[in-house]
Amino acid sequence: MSSIKYAHVSKDCVACGTCLKVCPMNAISINKGITAVVDEEICIGCGKCAKACPAAVISIEGRERRTQKPKAKSQMRTKRWYDYLWIFSLVYLFLGFFNILFAYIGLLCFTVPLMIAIRRGDKSYCNKYCGRGQLFTILGDKLGNSLKKDPPKFLRSSIFRYGFLVFFLSMFFMMIYSTYLVFAGAPLKQAVTLLWLFKLPWNWSDVSFVPAVVAQFAFGFYSVMLTSTVLGLVTMIIFKPRTWCVYCPMGTMTQGICKIKNKGESVSGEKSKTNCRAFEGACQR
Ligand code: SF4
Ligand code: SF4
Repeated sequence: MSSIKYAHVSKDCVACGTCLKVCPMNAISINKGITAVVDEEICIGCGKCAKACPAAVISIEGRERRTQKPKAKSQMRTKRWYDYLWIFSLVYLFLGFFNILFAYIGLLCFTVPLMIAIRRGDKSYCNKYCGRGQLFTILGDKLGNSLKKDPPKFLRSSIFRYGFLVFFLSMFFMMIYSTYLVFAGAPLKQAVTLLWLFKLPWNWSDVSFVPAVVAQFAFGFYSVMLTSTVLGLVTMIIFKPRTWCVYCPMGTMTQGICKIKNKGESVSGEKSKTNCRAFEGACQR
């Protein structure tokens, strides 16, 4: 009998997909947008996924094995076009400084993840296409701007995740209400509100060629995008690079949608390979 090591994912996985990108064996997949699943036959127990996981839900465990584990070769991920979407996120932020009306492009980051989750029942947006998550990985991991510590337990708790989602949505609807007030005749406020508190004057954008209500929504929406980026950057520095993914309202919402859509199906990350095969076609790598 020999002892083998493998990664074990607990039920608190937020299905962010950070672990997929670092696994040298391509042994992890995301099952139905709900949880990461490890193929124990391929996993070599190197622990890279556990180090990267912002939700700190992966542990490396050992167990006895009667047969020798087959030697698997490292499978390097080849770069795909969507691995460069961080450029889009970066350019988006700069365009907002140039003219606030570019804020409308950010609506894609709200609608696409929801559409994917509703139509396909998975979190492929978070797992593949989220440029902001990629940006945090580059800044925090590759450029060394992160302390790479596990976030505190409260930040990883469901109460905080869902509480932040409710708070975020409340602020979003407040922003819609402010836009309505301008539609009803209130004066346009040319300012970006950071962290829902600090009003930054933003009056260099030429918005004279659009109705005031259109401009007001752009200011409000860019405030939301800038605030979430700043929060993500701060938690990237203090904790792990993709800590934002743990409490990102879009991530929480899309995982919730996936849970509802795939209700009743077993998605545990523990019986790795068996589960992955049982859901063949649904696992994303
Ligand atoms: S929380 Fe993210 S990184 Fe951690 S196991 Fe789940 S999918 Fe992987
Ligand atoms: S411990 Fe296993 S699943 Fe995790 S990175 Fe290493 S090989 Fe991949």
